[in-house]
Amino acid sequence: MMKANRGVFRSFSETDLSSKEFMKGSSSTAKDNNIYYEDESETSSEEDSDVSCFDEEDVSWISWFCSQKGNEFFCEVDDDYILDDFNLSGLNNIVSYYDYALDLILDAESSHDDTLTYEQNNMVESDAELLYGLIHVRYISTSKGMSAMLEKYRNYDFGRCPRVHCNKQRCLPVGQSDIPKSSTVKIYCPKCEDVYAPQSRHQDNVDGAYFGTTFPHLFLMTYEHLQPQKANQNYVPRVYGFRIRKE
Ligand SMILES: [Zn+2]
Repeated sequence: MMKANRGVFRSFSETDLSSKEFMKGSSSTAKDNNIYYEDESETSSEEDSDVSCFDEEDVSWISWFCSQKGNEFFCEVDDDYILDDFNLSGLNNIVSYYDYALDLILDAESSHDDTLTYEQNNMVESDAELLYGLIHVRYISTSKGMSAMLEKYRNYDFGRCPRVHCNKQRCLPVGQSDIPKSSTVKIYCPKCEDVYAPQSRHQDNVDGAYFGTTFPHLFLMTYEHLQPQKANQNYVPRVYGFRIRKE
């Protein structure tokens, strides 16, 4: 069963506490499959966990994925959008385990996944992330996706500009490339029109292509009223109060 695998294989992420919580909820699955990872102390805590915040019956893969540390910039893509083949056209050429990954994202029962090896299941896991990212970048340029991102923007989910003269301006996620695995996600400040590294180190591994080069600009064209006044203050370097003369 694909959903059970999600619990098992996600639990291999050592730094991911949420996965461990999830793991606790599905520890019987790990036991049944006789798959344990090196750190026994993690699995030994299963007796004292009667409640899991990621009960696989209640949480969809998409909600689970978006709640992972580092994935805060992602909005939840509507199932309806994913179920429309037209929206996914061409993605099967990029994602190797396309059908499996799609089943995983949609929490669909897959009839073939029992035949997959552990390594193949891992590939499906990472392909699901890739596929979700590629769907996500398309989705956030639709009106529904943009309004989901608007809610996150209002919520300061994308962070604020670190530049002092921008007065904590809200930022938007941006990619420096539309090709996956080229660079990690950055934040764009509409006030100073510059890009910065996100503050959370967990976002260091998030692919910028899952947000794309277009998104923040299309967003601000769509919601024009959110376009802030351009930054008109600049920092002036001084030595003992005197401006440094530029040669
Ligand atoms: Zn700024």
